[in-house]
Amino acid sequence: MHRWKYFCNTMVSTAIKTEIITIGDELLLGQTIDTNSAWIGKKLGEHGFTINYKSTISDKESDILSAISLAQTRSEIVLITGGLGPTKDDITKHTLCKYFNCGYRTDELVIRHLEAIFAQRGKQLLETNLIQAELPAVCETLFNRAGTAPGMWFENEQGIVVSMPGVPNEVYTITEESLLPRLTQKYSLPKVLHKSLVTVMIAESLLSKRLEPYESNLPKGISLAYLPTFNTVKLRLTRTDASITESLFDTSFNNLLQELGSDVFCLNDQDPAQAISKYLLSKGITFSTAESCTGGYIANKLMQEPGISAIFPGSLVAYANEVKVRELGVKEEDLIANGAVSDSVASAMARGICEKFNVKLGISTTGIAGPSGGTDEKPVGLVFIGVCYNGEIIVKKHRMIGNREQFTHRTANAAFALIKQILQVEVLP
Ligand code: AMP
Ligand code: MG
Repeated sequence: MHRWKYFCNTMVSTAIKTEIITIGDELLLGQTIDTNSAWIGKKLGEHGFTINYKSTISDKESDILSAISLAQTRSEIVLITGGLGPTKDDITKHTLCKYFNCGYRTDELVIRHLEAIFAQRGKQLLETNLIQAELPAVCETLFNRAGTAPGMWFENEQGIVVSMPGVPNEVYTITEESLLPRLTQKYSLPKVLHKSLVTVMIAESLLSKRLEPYESNLPKGISLAYLPTFNTVKLRLTRTDASITESLFDTSFNNLLQELGSDVFCLNDQDPAQAISKYLLSKGITFSTAESCTGGYIANKLMQEPGISAIFPGSLVAYANEVKVRELGVKEEDLIANGAVSDSVASAMARGICEKFNVKLGISTTGIAGPSGGTDEKPVGLVFIGVCYNGEIIVKKHRMIGNREQFTHRTANAAFALIKQILQVEVLP
């Protein structure tokens, strides 16, 4: 019926063009951030599907109809989320009936599922809820274990159209449990190979200069992407051509690791904070933070790791000078002579928190997050970060760019770099 392309892993693939349409006035108004398309893009990308377009449209019939017809002219698979609630503002299902020129059928399995959900919640099943079991006659049901609106799978001459509810958790469940098994059965695509590493506190431009020879020797069919955020750069190597063998791909990644040596912070798509927490946990290194300008953000990032309580007794947000003095033993004379944003205060804070909480590793921050409070001598963005480990102290001075939020993220990443330095770890696993 359709020009399906089947591949085996040894053949050079033709990309399966896939398009995502997210529906919802709330998305256009910026009241809800569209996370569905990002998640779907990542998930399908991992399975070898090429996302070539995504769009966000209103809950208006004409917009939905034109978006789907346009998408079908250029993409074989069209994935839609949103507009499947039982309320009047959600009209996707109705519009799909119009698009595929069909009426409704009742799905008995969906009715059983609805009855089970409502019985479990101890709630009465209403007529409105039963509407969820009325589906376009020509679609196949994609079971939704996580909610009441099932996904719908349509096929026509142009390809596949799938509609899923907007609730992110339901999108994830339907995609993983119902959609992907069907798609991967239908299309045999070459395995996508990605490997990534993260660098911290090395400018993207510097990295790319340094990696020029590496990049020019990179085999055709392997590409290197630079993904910078807040003083970190994720370098992602991707196989873009199925004729590249896995061992050649691995060799290319190992060469990249060798090229960068200990400038590699961590591997495996990890966040620097996550890599540090995991490492501290694996070594049983107790830690605490004394944070002024980051207001507890570093502690918050590090405590995300499950089980962290084994090595993390607590932290202190020491914003006011009197708190720095009273709680951390910072000397008043020091504050008067050097100011709160200084090398010596950062150092005293890091040492002070180690003593206060009896931990091996202490981390401190003191800086000017702005937008006001800067002077010629101490401008906005200036920050001193201290780390104290087994009595040794390192303090680093930085000038961060950006607003308060960016300042906080950047300072945290700089602190993670300093922790790695003082722990003398080559590359965090
Ligand atoms: P709907 O299926 O349109 O009734 O959507 C249900 C809820 O899911 C909405 O109220 C939004 O909060 C959420 N939602 C809808 N679309 C998206 C999207 N693309 N990304 C994240 N959340 C969404
Ligand atoms: Mg909606």
